[in-house]
Parts: sequence; structure tokens; C-alpha cells
Amino acid sequence: MSTVLYIVVPCYNEEEVLPETSARLGEKLSALYEEGRVSSKSRVLFVDDGSKDGTWRLIKDMNEASGVFCGVSLSHNRGHQNALLAGLMSARGRCDCVISMDADLQDDIDAVDRMLEEYESGSDVVYGVRSAREKDTFFKRFTAEGYYKLLKKMGCEVVFNHADYRLLSARALNALAAYGEHDLFLRGIVPMLGYQTSTVEYERGERFAGESKYPLKKMLALAFDGIFSLSMKPIRAITACGIGLLILAAALFVFSIVGVCLGYTMLNWKLLTLAMCLIGGLILCALGILGEYIGRAYIEAKKRPRYNIGDKVGLGK
Ligand code: UDP
Ligand code: MG
Repeated sequence: MSTVLYIVVPCYNEEEVLPETSARLGEKLSALYEEGRVSSKSRVLFVDDGSKDGTWRLIKDMNEASGVFCGVSLSHNRGHQNALLAGLMSARGRCDCVISMDADLQDDIDAVDRMLEEYESGSDVVYGVRSAREKDTFFKRFTAEGYYKLLKKMGCEVVFNHADYRLLSARALNALAAYGEHDLFLRGIVPMLGYQTSTVEYERGERFAGESKYPLKKMLALAFDGIFSLSMKPIRAITACGIGLLILAAALFVFSIVGVCLGYTMLNWKLLTLAMCLIGGLILCALGILGEYIGRAYIEAKKRPRYNIGDKVGLGK
């Protein structure tokens, strides 16, 4: 029995790229079907993340033209990670494995064949890993690579240069469904699932058309979600900083006692102001870090849904 594959593609205002993306993904699925590698039940599942342009209309048209394309539409924009999760959870129970990829054709579609090979040889999770970042701007390359290194230092298990282009088997999808966190950072959660994993290298191209839907603000929000949802090290860093300051205070105390005994005047208002500013700043930073964890715990405690599905096409009831 050949594999039922779902390709999940989150889309936010992607009307400029969708005609080309759907054409290429449709061709890829037909080629795989003709080779006998995937079943005729395989689908391309688009997730419209509350787009304001004609994305959902295009998805419906594609479904009318061919049953290979199906879609879900979220009731409003919930961000890439939630849209992707909505797609994965909609595919769950309908397929043997799912591949997630971006809509803008930056992820090399031909890597799908190698991902399937890895799946056929027993992998439950296959990571698409970028072979080079030459096409990125210096800023993007520097910040992205620095961020992966920072996450590693914080003790988080992440795959270097892997974003959200990956294959998950049905059982990996079932395991993922048990992770109910609100602040999603899928590339940190997936390595926690365990199972047999492998990687497939691919060269990431440039966006086919349109503009990036990940402005700096969204990128920073995702980066913070990664750190605060995966690591407790920032809190421990506060304790370490406090201990360091206590040691410094003790040394200064000894130093000033000795100074007074030797007859020096130790009161220097500039130094005192500096110390006060330093301590004040450190306390505010510490409060900010603690506040971040408390705020996130507050949001998690509410257990609000991560997305609401507004409409579906080609997926039955
Ligand atoms: N995306 C989404 N919701 C958002 C932002 C982005 O579903 O709020 C989708 C977008 O349509 C694309 C993927 O996430 O398929 C990655 O976005 P993009 O390619 O713009 O990010 P970049 O490659 O510039 O980091
Ligand atoms: Mg992109």
C-alpha cells in the first residue's frame, strides 16, 4: 500500500505566489503518484491564516479545479506557527505522513522525494536543513545563526539551520497533538517527540513573489517564544547575577573598612550614583524576565484555543 502524504502549506496574504505554488505542488504529487510512491488519497492542504487578500478564494478555486487541493481557513490571523499547527492537526488521522512547507517556494520541493525515502526507511521525523545561507542578507544570516547558537547554550534541543520544512509520520503527529502549549515554537517541540529522525539537506531559494510575511516584530516574537517556552536558564541567570553582586558588595565592604582604617574618605557620589543605576537596572531586568514567565504562565492557564477554523474545503465534514 502506497503512502498517503499530505503537504501542509500555511498562507498569509499569499495570492501572488499561490498559483505557482499549487501548480508545482500538484505536479510533484502527480509525479510521486505515477512512480507509485504515494497514494491517490494524497493531498496538498493549504491553511489560510486569516488573509486579507484573495488567498482563500484562490484555495477554493483550486479545490474546485482539482480534488488534490484542500484547505482550511482560520477565523483570523493567528501567526505562522498556529496556522501550521492547524494544518497538521487537520491532516492528522487522514494520512500516513505530512510534510510542512512555506507557501513562497523558498523550500526546495524536490527535497520531498528524499524526505519520503527517509520516511520509507523508518524515520518518523525528517528535518529539512538548509545547506547554505548565501541568499540571505548578512543581517538575517547573522541573527538566525546567532539565535540557534543561543538556543543551544540555553540547553534547548534544536536542529541547526532547520526551520519548519519537515516530514512527520502519523505517530509523530499524534504525539505532537498532546503538546497543548499556547506559545508555540514547533522547531523546539518536535525534537522532544523522540522517535527515529533524519535530515535532508536542501538549498533555500528566494521568495517567488510578494513580500516576507515575517517582519522584524514577528521574528522577534517567535525568537522570544522559543527561549521562554524551552528554557529556564534566564531565571537561573538572575540568581547567578544576584550572587555575583553579593560577592562584589562583600568585597567592596572589606575594601571600604580597610580604607576608613587607613584614613581615606570613601564616599564618592559619582560612584554611588553609578552603583544605584546599575542595581536599579539589573532589578528591573530581573523583574522583566520574571514577568515574562509569569505572563506566559497566565496565558497558558487560560487554555484558550490556539486557532479557530472558520471554513474548510475538500476535507469532508
Ligand atoms: N505565514 C502565516 N501567517 C503569518 C505569517 C506568515 O501563515 O502570520 C506563512 C507565510 O504565508 C509563509 C510562511 O508562513 O507560507 C513563512 O512566511 P515568510 O515566507 O513570509 O517568512 P520568511 O521566509 O520571510 O521568514
Ligand atoms: Mg519565506
